[in-house]
Amino acid sequence: VTVQEITVKHNMEMAHRLWLTPGKCQQIHGHSWWVTLGITGEVDANGLLLGINYTDLKRVFRAYMDRNFDHHLLLHTDDIYAMPFRSKIEIEEGSTGWRTLPGLRTFKGDPTTENLAATIGQQMQHELMNQAPDILAISVLVQETAVNAAKWSCNESA
Ligand SMILES: [Zn+2]
Repeated sequence: VTVQEITVKHNMEMAHRLWLTPGKCQQIHGHSWWVTLGITGEVDANGLLLGINYTDLKRVFRAYMDRNFDHHLLLHTDDIYAMPFRSKIEIEEGSTGWRTLPGLRTFKGDPTTENLAATIGQQMQHELMNQAPDILAISVLVQETAVNAAKWSCNESA
């Protein structure tokens, strides 16, 4: 029996800022993020790892990332700029409508590479373990820049 790891990679354009860490990362800024999902398991008689094909794996992975992160702004749920606001015009017109920043997504904790890797990893674990319960390990590598990255991994057999 051969155990191997397969990986699929997907990109997202996303803005964020750190709420808890002072410095330049407190300014809203964007990155072209690359996220790599790794699945470890036994290769079957047809030469496929747990019978998983790349098409199905990418569909699950990309759908989650596109829906939740791509072209969004990620802020800590406690960040003051994550709060709904009323514009001056709306206040003058007596409108009662409240707005949020376009594309805003709130995140539990600061949206660091480490926290993103863990969140994406746990979601993929939840979605994939149902379909392929024999997965031995799952990993998620989040690259914020060409030189900054964080990796989350979980060994299912441990
Ligand atoms: Zn950043």
